[in-house]
Amino acid sequence: MTVRTRIAPSPTGDPHVGTAYIALFNLCFARQHGGQFILRIEDTDQVRSTRESEEDILKALRWLGLEWDEGPDVGGAYGPYRQSERKDIYKQYAQELVDKGHAFYCFRTPEELEAIREERRAQGLNPGIKGDLELPADEVKRRLEAGEPYVIRMKVPDEGVCVIDDLLRGTIEIEWSQVDCQILMKSDGMPTYHLANVVDDHLMGITHVIRGEEWISSAPKHQLLYKYFGWEMPQLCHMPLLRNPDKSKLSKRKNPTSINYYERMGYLPEAVLNYLGRMGWSMPDEREKFSLEEMIANFDLKRVSLGGPIFDVEKLNWLNGTWIRENLSLEQFAERVRQWAFNEGRVEQTLPHIQSRVHTFSDIAPMASFMFSGMLPLTAEQFAHAKLDEEQVKRVLQFSLWKLEAQRHWSKENIFADLKMLSKAMGIKIGDFMQPLFVAIAGTPNSWSVVDSMAILGPDMARARLRHALNLLGGFSKKGTKAVEKEYEVIVQEMNEKAENSGS
Ligand code: GLU
Repeated sequence: MTVRTRIAPSPTGDPHVGTAYIALFNLCFARQHGGQFILRIEDTDQVRSTRESEEDILKALRWLGLEWDEGPDVGGAYGPYRQSERKDIYKQYAQELVDKGHAFYCFRTPEELEAIREERRAQGLNPGIKGDLELPADEVKRRLEAGEPYVIRMKVPDEGVCVIDDLLRGTIEIEWSQVDCQILMKSDGMPTYHLANVVDDHLMGITHVIRGEEWISSAPKHQLLYKYFGWEMPQLCHMPLLRNPDKSKLSKRKNPTSINYYERMGYLPEAVLNYLGRMGWSMPDEREKFSLEEMIANFDLKRVSLGGPIFDVEKLNWLNGTWIRENLSLEQFAERVRQWAFNEGRVEQTLPHIQSRVHTFSDIAPMASFMFSGMLPLTAEQFAHAKLDEEQVKRVLQFSLWKLEAQRHWSKENIFADLKMLSKAMGIKIGDFMQPLFVAIAGTPNSWSVVDSMAILGPDMARARLRHALNLLGGFSKKGTKAVEKEYEVIVQEMNEKAENSGS
């Protein structure tokens, strides 16, 4: 048997460190067995998936030094490797399940389903969606002919226990009563994750599915699909989730989670990869510092421990420092610094702003240092505002952060449009509104356009600095956050209405 593993990211946001962590373990496992490592794009959620995010993910994984043998960009014998290009394949397999009686057409609207759940709850029954929703064949035929919208659902047992084998966890038992009749094909003709994932893992010859533990609850559905199709199921291995230092699930509120952020901050990819390799895994001799090659040579899945690995930036900083000092010659260090500083034309993009403001070259460093920094050494006093009180300043920062977190196309124009709309909706003059943003991003209100700076710094660094400023000002209490979220919702609604009116 040739071992084949895969990473299957959904391109719906920033390239997440969790994706790199899972990719790393899949790569090591495949390489150690002389097998192949595949990259597949799971973009069946057409509303949230973007090509921009896909490109970002591939670029970030490559930056780390993770290379795949097959994928949408490098091709391979099992393509296409992008699920949106495999629609016909899924349709055919969904039909096969319907024909065999393992799946059925469901015409219920979300409201009807909610009513059914309610009724079952009231009767003290399990509110899950079960196969008794199936309609008689002639009724199905009539509705299909009438062109009624439908989804295809898989049948699952009402009771009993599903036993899953996991390479790390042994057997896991999940009650079938907890499992819904999962939708396999959506009304827009796209498959759900479950169908597409199983069909592709089978057709692509995947032998081992190494993924995050958040997918354990999907395993019964997947196991049943393999059984329905009569296919052999790959071995499952659910890795422990990365956690914040306070043990909560890694979240960008507490830790930057985008790989791009770590690139922007000037970490060495080797050190980040080394750090991810330390997440729940250790070398046989317990040494902290190792390269990807060393990890592959010594890899053993059995050395993964299930206690939640803590992703701690302080620890990463230490490790990165040792890589810089011990693994780079002075020439290599100079070359890396040069690559980083001139990365993506950062200097070229910043130069026009600098040229129009300096008298001498020696003015450049103090004026532009924030373009080459991580988090700025700010004080709360710097946010003192002539027109806005501290609560308003915090709202400006928080609402801007939320708005910009939702911005999927990072450009000067879009950032400006977001902020302008927000300032209007909050009833704050744009100049007053921008001032706290200037301080958070550039460290001073006297800089060139903060929108330009944010565009050049990129979404991860810009958002991280806004978060950093908010933390500095004490953020909002838990109760406060709820109230502020409500305020924001009202404002968003107002913004949307205004945008609609101006559009029509
Ligand atoms: N598309 C899923 C994700 O975003 C893949 C999960 C799996 O590996 O099965 O992580």
